[in-house]
Amino acid sequence: MSTRQFSDLPSLFNYLNIKDLSDHDQSLIYQINQLLPQTQCGLCGHADGCLPYATAIIKDNEPHNKCVPSGQIVANKIATLLDREILAAVPSRWQTDPNTSRPMEVRAVIREDDCIGCTKCIPACPVDAIVGSGKQMHTIFTDLCTGCELCLPPCPMDCIELIPHPRAISDTERYAEQADLQKRYYKHLERIEQQVNDKTNAKPVISMVQAKLNDISVNIDENQAKNTIESAKLRTQLKKLEKQLSVKFDTTKQQQYDELLQKLAKLG
Ligand code: SF4
Ligand code: SF4
Ligand code: SF4
Repeated sequence: MSTRQFSDLPSLFNYLNIKDLSDHDQSLIYQINQLLPQTQCGLCGHADGCLPYATAIIKDNEPHNKCVPSGQIVANKIATLLDREILAAVPSRWQTDPNTSRPMEVRAVIREDDCIGCTKCIPACPVDAIVGSGKQMHTIFTDLCTGCELCLPPCPMDCIELIPHPRAISDTERYAEQADLQKRYYKHLERIEQQVNDKTNAKPVISMVQAKLNDISVNIDENQAKNTIESAKLRTQLKKLEKQLSVKFDTTKQQQYDELLQKLAKLG
């Protein structure tokens, strides 16, 4: 594999130091990442998504069975790729889709009657599938949604629901779709970075879909925008920790959870 595959990663991933690894290890990380669903849901314990998990499997010898949405099939494929033992996949709370033998995929739907247009769900979506602007009803483009569930915690109205999305899809179609999801996530990260670094004209993070629709005006002041983004991030981290703690108690994680809760309370 050419190391150029990792030459233009979003700067969020600098901490992984992938380019310092041998070509062999980079190649393995690349291949594992291609197998992963690219929903960036964080259920493997890696809040920044699939690439950090793929990297940890190689760099830190992390178990290869932790990707919840991809299930046993992908755990087995990684085991074969790495010549490691077969491990039982970490179970999903969703039943198995008989079409794919993977955990059932889900898609998010906003109960539009209950939506208050607060915009809090928008920055949480790693693939920019939500459209709407301040004080207006929001909606989700189901075709773009991966069902990662990350938009649920920031919603103050609990008006985002998940619906099962059974489907038959070939491996070729799936890998093409995953490559596209990965691209969209990296674009999303680059755009957030640009907006965070934009000191002159700080705006709340808005979706690419919305920008494409030329509806980029959101009537919200700079401090409120920063709080909105920060609160969404904190809620997302809290939800992930909550899920992890519900599976297994961990003192450090509980401490992180309490600290994040205090930070969120201060943001109001
Ligand atoms: S899909 Fe979710 S659980 Fe699977 S590797 Fe990506 S972030 Fe982790
Ligand atoms: S709309 Fe919600 S569930 Fe769907 S991809 Fe975006 S954050 Fe994930
Ligand atoms: S977070 Fe909930 S209430 Fe706010 S815009 Fe999104 S769906 Fe609507």
